[in-house]
Amino acid sequence: MTLPGFRAMCRAAVFSAVGQPIEIREVAVPQPGPREALVRITCCTICGSDLHTFSGARSSPMPTVLGHEIIGVVEAVNEGEFVLTDVAGQTLEVGDRVTWSVAASCGSCHRCEGGIPQKCQTLFKYGHEVCTEDHELSGGLAEYCLLQAGTAVVKLPSELPDAIACPANCATATVAAAVRSAGDLAGKRVLVFGAGMLGLTTCAFATAAGAADVSLCDVNEDRLAQGASFGATSLLRTVTTDDNDSVFEMSGHPSAVQSAINAANIGGTVILVGSVSPAATVAVDPERIVRRLLSIHGVHNYRPGDLVTAVRFLEEYHQQFPFADLVQKAFSLADVNEAFQFAVKNRPIRVAVIP
Ligand SMILES: [Zn+2]
Ligand SMILES: [Zn+2]
Repeated sequence: MTLPGFRAMCRAAVFSAVGQPIEIREVAVPQPGPREALVRITCCTICGSDLHTFSGARSSPMPTVLGHEIIGVVEAVNEGEFVLTDVAGQTLEVGDRVTWSVAASCGSCHRCEGGIPQKCQTLFKYGHEVCTEDHELSGGLAEYCLLQAGTAVVKLPSELPDAIACPANCATATVAAAVRSAGDLAGKRVLVFGAGMLGLTTCAFATAAGAADVSLCDVNEDRLAQGASFGATSLLRTVTTDDNDSVFEMSGHPSAVQSAINAANIGGTVILVGSVSPAATVAVDPERIVRRLLSIHGVHNYRPGDLVTAVRFLEEYHQQFPFADLVQKAFSLADVNEAFQFAVKNRPIRVAVIP
């Protein structure tokens, strides 16, 4: 099933080497196969991990089309019985506005069956796959993306603006997974390290969940100042307390990881999320973990249900918390190099690329 006027070619921004400009190429628009769907991208926000790959701090197969915080409109689905469905089991139809999981999972390996599909043994990650002749459109910095079988697709409420919906499938869903891992936050003392997209979103989730107080710690004053509007009740440059029930480490800085473990109360939970690129090791006092009955959880990516939670959260709270302000500037696909340079130089929470 395709729209009349189906295009044969489209533009994609291909990243081939660190230090080289991203190149806009004309590539063929594929017809979706069984349980695949072709999406016309309407917005892609550049995530911190895209910047890590762009700067060489994180290795990625190349050439690749970067960008995984993507939303778009279904342009074509496979004809016949093998149609991709959304997470609710509804058939995707041409014209549906959707977000989707950062990775596609097989659904049948022992990790998928064990509840960690984000670690599927044959994982396909949007914005991280090498471009091959038969599959180039796997990232967000392009006009189209081909959704794979095993992708968790969620239809977007029409009232959710593009810029707010875009980070749902990375930052917001990861926070939903972190909050699920932490358990009920009602009445808890919550401490968050890192006032980026993840940290600010965590403050909003904790506030909405009824936390007793929400402290946010960051060394960057400008970022920290945004915390109050996301529900943070204390803005801290350093942390000296050790009576926090739920501690979220979203920055990835080794010193913050150490502070997070030291800041947890007896019986507390420490959720480590930010450490996604190589960094210095951290000295841990095991006696502290044992005697204080601490639980330390690592959270990386998420399950399909967390993406549903993320979209519902944004739908319910996007007017209470200023998520729209976090995307500071939008660039066209032709200006994708300027978008990365702006993001590296100015460190905004997010920039958007609109094909
Ligand atoms: Zn991301
Ligand atoms: Zn699997």
